[in-house]
Amino acid sequence: MTRRRARRASPAPRGAGADGPRRRRSPLVPAAIVAVVLALTASAWWLCTRPVVPLARFADQNVLLVTIDTLRADALGCYGGRAATPVLDRLAAGGVRFDFAHAHAVVTLPSHASILTGEYPFTHGIRENSGYRLAPGRATLATRLRATGRAAGAFVGAVVLDARYGLNAGFDHYDDRLPVGHVPTAISMPERRGDEVVAAARRWIEAQSGPWFAWVHLYDPHAPYAPPSPYDTQYAGAPYFGEVAWVDHVLAPLLDEVRAGTRPTLVVVTSDHGEALGEHGEMTHGLFAYEPTLRVPLILAQVGGATGTSHGTVSSVPARHVDLVPTILDLVGAPAPGDLPGRSLVPALAGQDSSDRVSYFEAMSASLNRGWAPLGGVLAGREKFIDLPLPELYDLATDAGEQRNLADTARVTDRMYSDVAALLSPDQREELETMRQQMQERVEKERKRRAELNAAAEAALKAERGNAEGKAPGPTPVPATAKQPESRN
Ligand SMILES: [Zn+2]
Repeated sequence: MTRRRARRASPAPRGAGADGPRRRRSPLVPAAIVAVVLALTASAWWLCTRPVVPLARFADQNVLLVTIDTLRADALGCYGGRAATPVLDRLAAGGVRFDFAHAHAVVTLPSHASILTGEYPFTHGIRENSGYRLAPGRATLATRLRATGRAAGAFVGAVVLDARYGLNAGFDHYDDRLPVGHVPTAISMPERRGDEVVAAARRWIEAQSGPWFAWVHLYDPHAPYAPPSPYDTQYAGAPYFGEVAWVDHVLAPLLDEVRAGTRPTLVVVTSDHGEALGEHGEMTHGLFAYEPTLRVPLILAQVGGATGTSHGTVSSVPARHVDLVPTILDLVGAPAPGDLPGRSLVPALAGQDSSDRVSYFEAMSASLNRGWAPLGGVLAGREKFIDLPLPELYDLATDAGEQRNLADTARVTDRMYSDVAALLSPDQREELETMRQQMQERVEKERKRRAELNAAAEAALKAERGNAEGKAPGPTPVPATAKQPESRN
C-alpha cells in the first residue's frame, strides 16, 4: 500500500504584530508554540501514515461498470501479464487496483448475477448458464442506482447475457442485440465484437443529460481466440493474450469520453471469471475453481469532472464480487442495503476496517450437467478450501499456484467446512455454516429436479418407442429434453 507524502510544512505565518505595535510576550506563548508544534507533528504523522484512497464520494457521479468476460487477472499488463494493456494500466495508475479479488462462480451468468445483485449464487439462485433466470423483482445494481435518479443502460456482448435470463432487471435500456445467423457450438456462442458494444454504449451515454449508470460487457477474450489485426500477428503464438490486448484497445474511446466529461465518473473494471489456459488440466473455465479462473482483476477509479489527478494504489485487501454493489452505493452516497453479504471496500482502503472477509465460491456446471460431485469452497484470508470428496486446502500466501494440497497434512484433515471454520472467528464460522447448509439444500433440490426431468424424458421415449413398434420403422425419436451441446461461458 502506498503512502501519501507528508506535505511540506509552510513557513509560519507572520503574526499581526510583526508590522504593528510590539506587544509584551505573554507567558502563554511558549505553551501555544508547543501546542502548535505538537499539532503539526501529529498532522504530519497522520498524513504520512494515512493510506491513500483515490476514491471520493460524489453523489451525482456517473457509474461505468465494465465486465470483461474470461479475463484472468494476471493477463493484464498492470498485473504483470503478457498482454499489452496501456488503457487499463493507465486507469489503474490513477485508481485502486485490487490484487486479491475473486469471483463466486466460474461461468458467465451466475458470476454476472453476483456482480449485479451483490448476492452469492445460492441466494440469487443462478448456478449455471442454462436453465436459470433471475427471479423477477430481485433488486440489482441497476434497480438501486435508478432509485438515486440515474438512467441505467446495459450493453452486452454475448447471448449468455440475453435479457431472457433476467439480468435486465432495473435497466431502462438493455442492448443485447447480436449478429444473426451464428450457430452456437460447444465453445462458440453468438457474440458482438467489443468495438461494436463500446460504440453502442457511447451513443447512449452521449444522449444522457443527467447522471447515469452504464454496464458494458465485452466478450472478446472468450474462446475461440481470434483477435483482429494487428493483434492476430502480434500474438500469433498466444491468441488469448491478443484478445486481451484488443479488448483493452477498444475501451480507449469510452474511457477518453468519460475522462473529458464535466461530471465525474466512477469506473469499475472486473471480469466474471478467468481462463485456465491448460493449468490444472483445464483449458478454458467452468470445471474447477483454481485461481486462474476464480481470481479476477478489479480496478476502481474516478475520472472526469473535478476529480483531478490521483496517484494510484495497489490494495491487498481481499475483494469479492459481492462487495461491488455496497462499494458503488457507498461512493455515490446511497444507503447501504443491510441484507447483502458484501461490504463497502472504501473503509478497508482507508484502514478503517481490517476484519477478515470470507468468500464463498462454487463451480456447479460439472455437477449439474455430468453428475460430478458439487464443487464449493471458501477463501478465508489467504487460505483456500475446496470442498470435494478429495478435499483441497491451499495457502495462497506461499503457494499461489495451488500445487501443495495441505488437506492431508495440515490442520484440516477432512472435508467438513467446520474444520476450516475452527480457524475463524465466531461470526465467520456462522457465515460459513450458513453457506454450507444453503448450498447443500440447493444442490439436493437441483438433483431432484434433474432426476424428475430425466424420468419424464425416459418415459416419453419409451412411450414413443412403444407406439413406433406397431408402425413402419423410422428414425429413432429424440426426446425434447435431450441435452444440447454444453458450453461454458
Ligand atoms: Zn464468462
